[in-house]
Amino acid sequence: MTGAAQKEKLGFQTEVRQLLSLMIHSLYSNKEIFLRELISNASDAADKLRFEALSDDGLFEGEGELQIRLAFDKEARTVTITDNGIGMSRQEVIDNIGTIAKSGTRQFFEALTGDAAKDAELIGQFGVGFYSAFNVADRVTLITRRAGVGRDEGVRWEADGEGEYTVETVDRARRGTQVVLHLREDQDEFLDGHRLRHVVGKYSDHISLPIIMDKEGEEEKSEETINSATALWTKSKSDITQDEYDEFYKHVSHDFEAPMAHVHTKVEGNLEYISLLYIPTHSPFDLWDRSTRRGIKLYVRRIFITDDAEHLMPSYLRFVRGVIDSADLPLNISREILQHNKQIDSIRGGSVKKILGLLEGMLKNDTEKYAEFWREFGRVFKEGLIDDPGNREAIAKLMQVSTTHTDLEEPDITLDQYVERMEEGQEKIYYITAANFGTAKNSPHLEVYRKNDIEVLLLCDDVDEIAMMHLGEYQGHQLQSVTKGDL
Ligand code: ADP
Ligand code: MG
Repeated sequence: MTGAAQKEKLGFQTEVRQLLSLMIHSLYSNKEIFLRELISNASDAADKLRFEALSDDGLFEGEGELQIRLAFDKEARTVTITDNGIGMSRQEVIDNIGTIAKSGTRQFFEALTGDAAKDAELIGQFGVGFYSAFNVADRVTLITRRAGVGRDEGVRWEADGEGEYTVETVDRARRGTQVVLHLREDQDEFLDGHRLRHVVGKYSDHISLPIIMDKEGEEEKSEETINSATALWTKSKSDITQDEYDEFYKHVSHDFEAPMAHVHTKVEGNLEYISLLYIPTHSPFDLWDRSTRRGIKLYVRRIFITDDAEHLMPSYLRFVRGVIDSADLPLNISREILQHNKQIDSIRGGSVKKILGLLEGMLKNDTEKYAEFWREFGRVFKEGLIDDPGNREAIAKLMQVSTTHTDLEEPDITLDQYVERMEEGQEKIYYITAANFGTAKNSPHLEVYRKNDIEVLLLCDDVDEIAMMHLGEYQGHQLQSVTKGDL
């Protein structure tokens, strides 16, 4: 090791500095989420190791049982989370921990208002990842070694949340990452096994790795697993509570809010897979970016493969989050294979059907919730009329539209409702598209229709014109623009 081994003092990026200062100086109630965040990172690190080890078995270094350890020390006033996952190199520590590149954190900054009290509350809602350690600690030490490198390439990182951190190269025999939280004066509540177990049970029970703690109050030192340590999606529905479904969603999506709905399916037969898919309550910040489709994590027999499998979900359902675990795909599946794979295609087909079914049920049973769905995702969802000819009719059935019947801007009518109340002798479905609702509503083209009591769809989203052209007809009724042709 050359100069890099020496202790180096580096500055946090400005945003990180702001975040840390908020964490430390603003009070809020939900401090315990630090544990969820650190355990979530440990779990991701184990996933990454398993995946990299598929092509390089040596990375396990003879220690293939992946686990998370949780410990506390009353005298030292520390809480320690240790994993034997992938670990980090010195550069990775600097890049990942000192830099703000993470989705959750970026979202957080977009949501900040500048009002200290409100922003403090926001931290409680957002899981802002690693930095939430500073909710409870005034000093954090992270010691890590990346899998597969020599023991002399360990890294020790430390920060007191004030704007600078140190990194030095150290000797470390064990692979993986250890995070030591030096608790603040007023955070003694976490120096308590019951408290820690409770928090783990609340947020991290679904983590598929065992989370291990020393048993308390026993002469002989022994340990126990404090979570259920099975991948949640493999359990049967009746054994999963709503809370568990919600927490799992937060874990896979990095969202801070419980989801709107989920659908959990086990497919058996020729092609076997489990899917657990969620519709978020609010749209993700990158909803309009058609190229980002990172919502679905692909597993093969419980082993995480990628969250970059855009072929698992069509673009118009890019807001869907969740997990698909295939029993049939090869473990060493490559990006190329993912793109041209019959199994992937039928998994996608099946998953799309499940989501459409979920929405159908919502529309039927909970119109208020469905209206929320439509408000958040309707515009994206309509792209399906263009992109997914196979499901066009089903997608059209799920559309919400505004019409001249109520002249309400908020779309609240389905095409089925429209068809049902068509005038005697009316054969076509009439619509108008415009740049905004006001223009649509006040269009002179509508006069004759209004006079004759003929309902017209008022469409003002960008996609509508092309979407209507692709749809062409609904339930045997031709779609007719009122600007192109006479009544
Ligand atoms: P996120 O988990 O959303 O990526 P975090 O702030 O929680 O954001 O973590 C930042 C990054 O630091 C992670 O993406 C990962 O690269 C790295 N990291 C954090 N904890 C660990 C860990 N226990 N093992 C390996 N890498 C980690
Ligand atoms: Mg994280």
